[in-house]
Amino acid sequence: MNIPTLESLDVRGKQVLLRCDLNVPLKDGVITDDGRIRASLPTISYLVEQGASVVITAHLGRPKGERKPELSLAPIAIRLSELLGQSVKFSPEIVGESVLAQAQALTAGEVLLLENIRYEAAETSKDESERLVLATALASYADVFVSDGFGAVHRKHASVYDVAKLLPHAAGYLVAAEVEVLKKLTDNPERPYGVVLGGAKVSDKIGVISNLLDKVNVLAIGGGMLFTFLAAQGKEIGTSLVEVESIPTVLELLGRAKELGVDILLPTDIVVAPAFSAESPATLVSADAIPHDQMGLDIGPESAAAFASAIKSCQTVFWNGPMGVFEFAAFAAGTKTVAQALTEVPGISVVGGGDSAAAVRKLGFNDSDFGYISTGGGASLEYLEGKELPGLIALQN
Ligand code: ADP
Ligand code: MG
Repeated sequence: MNIPTLESLDVRGKQVLLRCDLNVPLKDGVITDDGRIRASLPTISYLVEQGASVVITAHLGRPKGERKPELSLAPIAIRLSELLGQSVKFSPEIVGESVLAQAQALTAGEVLLLENIRYEAAETSKDESERLVLATALASYADVFVSDGFGAVHRKHASVYDVAKLLPHAAGYLVAAEVEVLKKLTDNPERPYGVVLGGAKVSDKIGVISNLLDKVNVLAIGGGMLFTFLAAQGKEIGTSLVEVESIPTVLELLGRAKELGVDILLPTDIVVAPAFSAESPATLVSADAIPHDQMGLDIGPESAAAFASAIKSCQTVFWNGPMGVFEFAAFAAGTKTVAQALTEVPGISVVGGGDSAAAVRKLGFNDSDFGYISTGGGASLEYLEGKELPGLIALQN
């Protein structure tokens, strides 16, 4: 893959359109984890230092073409200003004469953030000509395009894919760094290679499991998705999260793993509770004895210790998806033990996924404790599935 680097693009004194991933978690209008904003800073700072006038486009959540006020990027502009140490202008409009005028009025080193690009239905449209109209408007604000919104590069969207065809372009530092790490996980990883998967939806992760199965030495499964595995093995899972329609695929994967000699680690103990709530009383049970009226909300300490010891014996580890409902303190221990083990991996440890990244920060770890914390959940998973990512394809020369 030959993607032009930021240094190879002439940005000095130019109008630059920059796609960032500023899709941070918000609770009641307050940013709960600004990791993605921080990860965008190196490229923005470089462009500012180069005397470029920077127009940033980004999305927040899934407004589906509607102006949902709770998904406005206005609070993000404020946080970005603080972190960047300079004022960031904000345009509530995305398309139109006023935006063009505002973009053209930027002086060297000034930054303008446009409102949530997904307020425009054309951004995510399946109709290429609709996307092209929006991409053309975005391109009119700039001389060159820098793609740095890694979390969206798996999307064929106007501000990610189509605009790259209209302007000279390059990958920003974040996209370049993410791709370099993902290459280490796919092209000849140092062995033993372990993958730990958790999170809510097994269907999100089946493609990755399938593609990585013949590449890994150990695969550990926790989180809500583990119950579909237990159900596939015929176990009682009570009221735990389950995707019945994925059971046949899971059985097939378990069979293939056996043939390949890959160790699939499943929990032996589970923390259960009668309801999905922070106050629900937790009990530890064997994975073979989940009460029919309770749900599994975390892996137990025995399982977490087994996962941790497998992780620490690996040279390369990729982890995506919390082991339990870490948002509730009573069900965060499994995630914490696994995160701790990742910090002790002698080789490279990679944390992928928005919730996983938020979890390790919430649990008190520092970014520097890990080899790398990816900003992209879906994007890194699709890369690891072996899929071609439209936002990267569009950058290739
Ligand atoms: P990521 O964003 O890191 O890719 P996911 O979005 O796949 O992770 O999953 C994260 C969510 O999974 C968290 O909100 C967490 O509460 C939830 N989760 C983990 N374990 C369970 C469980 N046992 N039951 C229900 N939800 C769970
Ligand atoms: Mg998530």
